Amino acid sequence: MDTTSGDPATTTPTPPLPGPVLVIGACGQLGLELTAALRQRYRPENVIAADVRPLKNMELLAGGPFELLDVLDKPRLEELVQQYRPRQVYHLAALLSATAEKDPLFAWKLNMDGLLNVLNVAVAEGVGQVYWPSSIAVFGPDTPRHDTPQLTVMNPNTVYGISKLAGEQWCEWYHRKHGLDVRSLRYPGLIGYKSLPGGGTTDYAVDIYHKAVAGEHFTCFLKEDSALPMMYMPDALTATLDLMHAPAESIKVRTSYNLGAMSFTPADIAASIRQELPGFQISYAPDQRQAIADSWPASLDDSAARQDWGWQPRFDLNKMTHDMLVHLRELQPA
Ligand code: NAD
Repeated sequence: MDTTSGDPATTTPTPPLPGPVLVIGACGQLGLELTAALRQRYRPENVIAADVRPLKNMELLAGGPFELLDVLDKPRLEELVQQYRPRQVYHLAALLSATAEKDPLFAWKLNMDGLLNVLNVAVAEGVGQVYWPSSIAVFGPDTPRHDTPQLTVMNPNTVYGISKLAGEQWCEWYHRKHGLDVRSLRYPGLIGYKSLPGGGTTDYAVDIYHKAVAGEHFTCFLKEDSALPMMYMPDALTATLDLMHAPAESIKVRTSYNLGAMSFTPADIAASIRQELPGFQISYAPDQRQAIADSWPASLDDSAARQDWGWQPRFDLNKMTHDMLVHLRELQPA
C-alpha cells in the first residue's frame, strides 16, 4: 500500500482526452471530487459539470463550465448533449438509501427515469461511454453477508436497492441491445473529507471524523458491531477512472462490478481514531438506518474487478483515518 497521499492515482495511464465529458450530479459528495479529478486529468474546460442546483461555493468545482440540469428534463439533457457533444457521460444524480425510504416514489422516479433519460439520449446522440454507479444496496437480507459474490441472491429490500438493481439490468440491456459502452461499479460506503455525504446509511463514517477533529462526542446511528464495506474517496476515484479507461474487451460485467477495499464496524473506526486522538468518545443510538445496514453485506468478493481491469485498493482503515484527520485539521478554522 502507498503511504503518502490521499489523491487519487490511476493505475492505468490516462489515455488522450476522448472528447468533452459531462458529469451529472456534479455538486454531490462523489460528483465534486470526480469532477475535480477529471478536470485535473483533462483540461477544466473539457469537463462540463451539471446539477439541478448550483453550489454555494462554486470554486469547489475547480473552474470549468457549469450547467443547470434536471436529469428528469429530457429535452434539456438533449440540448446539453447536442451543445457539448460529450464523449463520456458520468451520471451520478440519485436519491440515496436513507432519503429514498422517506420519499419512495420520487426516489424511484429520479433513480430510474434519470438513468433511462441518460441511456436513451446517449444512444440517440452517439455518446461513446456512460458511467453510472450502483451500490452494495443491490444486495438484501437473503444475500450471503461475508465475501458477497459478484453473482448471488440479491432481493434488496430498500427502494434505493431496488432502483439500483433495476438500473444494473437496464445498463446490461442497453449494452446488449444497442451496443452502448455503459460501465458501472457497486460502490461501498464512500468516505471523503472534501464534501459531506448526501443521505446514505454509511454517512456516519464521514461525520465521525468531523466530530473527532472538532473534539466533540459522536453519537452513532448504527450499532457498534455493525460491519459494512467502505472505501476511501481516492480509491473510489481511482476505480472509476480505471474502469472507464480500461479497454472495452476487458469489461466482462455489464451490470455492475463488486468493488471492495475495507470492512469495519463503528467500534473499529472509533478505535482507529483513538490511535491518533486518545480522548475521542462515541456512543450508540441506532435509528431506522440500522435495519438498512442489517440487510447489506459486511464484505464483498471483488475478484472479478481485480481480474478484469486490475482493481487494487490503496487505503485500509488506519491509513484512511490518518489521511482524513490530517486533511480535516487543515480545514479547521484557525
Ligand atoms: P449526493 O446526494 O451527494 O449527490 C447527488 C447529486 O445529484 C446532488 O448534487 C444533487 O443536487 C444532484 N441531483 C439530484 N437530483 C438531480 C436531478 N434531478 N438532476 C440533476 N442532478 C440532480 O450523492 P453521492 O453520494 O455523490 O452519490 C453519487 C452516486 O453514487 C449516486 O448514484 C449514488 O447512488 C452512488 N453511490 C454513492 C455512495 C456513497 O457512499 N456516497 C455509495 C454507493 C453508491
